[in-house]
Amino acid sequence: MKFSWRVLVLWTLPALVIGFFFWQGAFATAPADMGKNAASTRMTFGRFLEYLDAGRVKQVDFYEGGRTAIVEAVDPALDDRLQRVRVDLPASAPELITKLKDKGVNFDAHPARNDGAIWGLLGNLIFPVLLITGLFFLFRRSSNLPGGPGQAMNFGKSRARFQMEAKTGVKFDDVAGIEEAKEELQEVVTFLKQPERFTAVGARIPKGVLLVGPPGTGKTLLAKAIAGEAGVPFFSISGSEFVEMFVGVGASRVRDLFKKAKDNAPCIIFIDEIDAVGRQRGAGIGGGNDEREQTLNQLLTEMDGFEGNTGIIIIAATNRPDVLDAALLRPGRFDRQVIVDAPDIKGRLEILSVHARNKKLDPSVSLEAIARRTPGFTGADLANLLNEAAILTARRRKEAITLLEIDDAVDRVVAGMEGTPLIDGKSKRLIAYHEVGHALVGTLLKDHDPVQKVTLVPRGQAQGLTWFTPSEDQGLITRAQLRARIAGALGGRAAEEVIFGREEVTTGAGNDLQQVSSMARQMVTRFGMSDLGPVSLESQTGEVFLGRDWMNRSDYSEAIASRIDTQVRQIVEDCYETAKKIIREHRTVADRLVDLLIEKETIDGDEFRRIVSEYAEVPDKQQFVPQL
Ligand code: ADP
Ligand code: MG
Ligand code: ZN
Repeated sequence: MKFSWRVLVLWTLPALVIGFFFWQGAFATAPADMGKNAASTRMTFGRFLEYLDAGRVKQVDFYEGGRTAIVEAVDPALDDRLQRVRVDLPASAPELITKLKDKGVNFDAHPARNDGAIWGLLGNLIFPVLLITGLFFLFRRSSNLPGGPGQAMNFGKSRARFQMEAKTGVKFDDVAGIEEAKEELQEVVTFLKQPERFTAVGARIPKGVLLVGPPGTGKTLLAKAIAGEAGVPFFSISGSEFVEMFVGVGASRVRDLFKKAKDNAPCIIFIDEIDAVGRQRGAGIGGGNDEREQTLNQLLTEMDGFEGNTGIIIIAATNRPDVLDAALLRPGRFDRQVIVDAPDIKGRLEILSVHARNKKLDPSVSLEAIARRTPGFTGADLANLLNEAAILTARRRKEAITLLEIDDAVDRVVAGMEGTPLIDGKSKRLIAYHEVGHALVGTLLKDHDPVQKVTLVPRGQAQGLTWFTPSEDQGLITRAQLRARIAGALGGRAAEEVIFGREEVTTGAGNDLQQVSSMARQMVTRFGMSDLGPVSLESQTGEVFLGRDWMNRSDYSEAIASRIDTQVRQIVEDCYETAKKIIREHRTVADRLVDLLIEKETIDGDEFRRIVSEYAEVPDKQQFVPQL
């Protein structure tokens, strides 16, 4: 969290107020200089004189220069018990001393204890002092600005929320695996370095580039690399930081940012998560967000307010270009869009090489094998993977990262932290059957990805896991493959039911079933793989995001909806039957595999297939192996 004076001051003040009352409470109840002798009850001066006349007073101690006295007297109403009371004395009562002497009462005067008085005074002073200090800081913070002290409450300017890096230190070499994007942006570096080359032939230098891609693919890194290559400063701000509680703050931040950038041109302005401000205007449910709209308008104004050849290039990043306001995308603004996608196997290998540069890898480790094992991983995932492996290596006190650590790190990144295995018992047996069920169905169905390993070591939420070697980055998936995946995912529940009976099935299959439903539904509504025919009934994003797509959620009638449900159920039931049939017919090998799994905790894919092949014919799965 960023340190903020304003937050500090705002929280300190109430604490001080409360503290003040406690402080006052501690010092103000009794006269400070009476110390231990303080008496809780008071007696009037007149009554004191009466007591004195009646001879009931035994002892008088004067305090505060004779202004108060603690009187010890006996009270007949209370069986002549000795009472201590406090009496406030009038300023002039000179005859009192004579009277005391006459009556033979012990009396004594105590000098005022000054330290107590000082504490009392401090107690009264400390609160105002702290309050003033606090206010001083508050105002100093907000007046410490270009706008001058006159704009004390200008929160928009009070915190420069954008960061400026004079040198990012990132080069194109540090970005790997997204070659097309790199090539596109290479040109931007030239714009920044030699604008004359373009302006000489009358070309208009683009102002804005929009990087589109899922999180972790290297958009921020790429923007920094451009600044680094061109040797220009890098201003960055996140879209969400524009949007604040106070109306007008975002707009003033935009103004501020562009002002700073103009002073430092040529430079790069990087706006991360631009969708936070750049959403469609005026389409929000429950009224538009005025603050956001103002910010966006200001951004558009600023972008129009300078010429391309001033040397400022704005790079924005988003993973949802679909929600952006059209005005942002028109020529002269973010007219260039560069797609930054998750890398393919070759890209992953390159990214791994970049991140392996500063790591100690055992010579036996092949980055190629890691790249093969990690389809769908983004650059950030891969960087994280190697880092996890390095941490594991250090923890195991090894010299260099070996395949073992890499494997563990992949498992960890994909499935979460390793837990402790269950102790042997019925649960463990059931989980073993569940996992063997997945693996067996997966192995025996021709169109299913091959098993990589089966394990009973829990990870994340899962008590056991079956890993499949995913087919490499294939864009197209056949109907048979989808059905095989559904059957494989149902393999766990099928085994539970076949072995233990309908009443014994467990909640462990919940996750599997969710996947199954989603796959089956997509087969029907998106891919036209059911009896409903080749129709698309749902758009790709099922999500509802405010601002768009709220109204046209379902574009079919009730009748179609019920037919969809029937089709989905049909697919799932078919696949479930397939899975149960496989388990029933291969019960012997299933039993043997379960015993082995409980004994060893983990069986790897090759061993699994070898054992299964002793009992049944294992279909040969031609893996598409991409050329590196
Ligand atoms: P994004 O902004 O797209 O969410 P980042 O640029 O912040 O992703 O990436 C986070 C980290 O992941 C980077 O700092 C880098 O270490 C690593 N990374 C991501 N993509 C790549 C890539 N293409 N090449 C090298 N490293 C990458
Ligand atoms: Mg980022
Ligand atoms: Zn399962």
